[in-house]
Parts: sequence; structure tokens; C-alpha cells
Amino acid sequence: MNIKLIALVFLAFVLASCNGQSTDKSEEVIDFEQTRFNTASLLQHVEVLSSDALEGRRTGTASSLKAKDYIIAQLKILQVKPLTESYEQQFSFKNKEKSYQGINVLGKIEGSERPDKYIVISAHYDHEGIKNGKIYNGADDDASGISALFAFAEYFQKNPPKHSVILAAFDAEELGLQGSRYFVDNVDVAVGIENIVLNINMDMISRNEKDELYVVGSGHYIQLKSAINIELPENFNLLTGHDGLDGKQNWMNSSDHAPFHKKEIPFLYFGEEDHKDYHQPSDDFENIHPNFYVKAVYTIISVFENLDKMNL
Ligand SMILES: [Zn+2]
Repeated sequence: MNIKLIALVFLAFVLASCNGQSTDKSEEVIDFEQTRFNTASLLQHVEVLSSDALEGRRTGTASSLKAKDYIIAQLKILQVKPLTESYEQQFSFKNKEKSYQGINVLGKIEGSERPDKYIVISAHYDHEGIKNGKIYNGADDDASGISALFAFAEYFQKNPPKHSVILAAFDAEELGLQGSRYFVDNVDVAVGIENIVLNINMDMISRNEKDELYVVGSGHYIQLKSAINIELPENFNLLTGHDGLDGKQNWMNSSDHAPFHKKEIPFLYFGEEDHKDYHQPSDDFENIHPNFYVKAVYTIISVFENLDKMNL
């Protein structure tokens, strides 16, 4: 562990133990009878990743490297192995004439029954960084998805998946889905692309005024429809739509599921409709809705359970 990472882990500890606001937030959260992950940890990881110390996690910055190290440290704690010899998948690309280096973080959990078939569960850790002196913390977008990856890892410790699972923390989503595209184009090195049977992508899952979370993709990949029929938590709605069939904004290519879709790999994308803090410096931890968020992660894990039972 380098010094910066130690400082960050220490910051997480301080936030968890001393910050009255964060403790209050986790205490407000409903504790489900069969909670599959620690809700306080779920919130704490969002708080750390969206803290000013990480300066908005813009691809290629020193702060982005800190976020990357934090994610790897959590995967190690949660006993998730690296997909290849390293957790890191480096890539370079150009955006608006500027060259960037990006790093995806990829972990693997071996499947108990169908180890040669892979489900990729993804979120992106990069965000907008600092613009005009303001930090764009990206708590909802997409620290919420990254922390949900850790919740999945926690869940898998007690409930090993039947299919193998790749937990993917993609970089450079905000610069044009660069990390996920690189992953899909180069995955043959680790896993034959024909063995990737599904992508579950999570991007912006921690707040909604109407308690609505959308699941996108089943309008096109209709074989996935039955997996969405689950018992939902109280005051929580899982809606289908935004798949380009209902006159609403089309989200089929809106986030890191798009490169999978392009290769005709089935996907389900979970996300909520835009809010007033979307891509604003005010997308802060204080503005997420802890109860909604916990229910969202719980629900996505329920859908995963159904999908994992299918012959994908
Ligand atoms: Zn996003």
C-alpha cells in the first residue's frame, strides 16, 4: 500500500467513525430482513469515492489513480481475485485531440456450476474532475455503481455465483465509454468473447424523487424479461423502458452497456432518470437518497439471482 492509499483508507475510517452526518445517514436506512450486504459500508464507499479528496476522479489524473487504488484495495479485502495477473487493464485513447491513459479495474469470482461462462457486472469510477475551480464529485454518477460492485462482492462471499462473474470498474466512461469499449474489444486475451453471456451495468442508482429505478434492455433481449419479475421492497418501483421502444429517451447506448450491446451480448442496465444535480458540482454524497439506494442494490442483486439460475 502506498502512502496516499493509506491516507485514503484512513480517511474512510475517520468518515465512518467521526462524521455524525454519515452515521445518521446509515441509521436512517431500512435494515432488510435478508440484507445481503452491509448497508453502512455501501454508503461509506460512496462517501469516500465522492469526497473532495478524490477531486472528481477525472481519467488520467493523480486523483483517478487514488480512486483506482482504493477500488483494488476493497476487492482484495473482499477476496475478489484479479481477472488476469493484475487487476489493472491499461489503455490509451484520444478525446478532442487530447491523449489519455485509462485504467480499468477487473476482478473475478469463479462460478460454481458454469465457470466457463461469464457475467460482467459493471460500473464506472471516473467522473468529470475539476472544472472552473469546482469539484464534480459524482456521488450518484457513478460512485453509487462502484460501491454496488463491492456489495456484490460481499454477497458472493456467502452466495457463490453459478456463472463466473467479472466485476468491472471501468474508467473513461465520461470521455466516450472508452474503458468498456476497450474491455469488450480486448477481452479475448483473458476470456473468449463468446463466453461473455451477459452484462449487468449500473450507472446512477442512488436517488430518485419518485422511488423509480429503470431496468433497460429487456425490450430487446426478451429472454431476460422473466428475471425482472421479483418481489420488490416497499415504496420502490422497478420500471422497464427507455429501450428505444416507448417514445422515452433511448438509453440503449447511454453508458458502458453499449459496447456489449454492439457485439450483441445481452445486457440489463440499471439507472434512474436525470436529476437536478446530474453532471453538476452538486452531485454530492449529501444529496443521494440512502433508503432508495439500498433498495436499488438489493433489487439488482435479486435480479442477478434470477439471471444466474438461467442457462445464459
Ligand atoms: Zn455515469
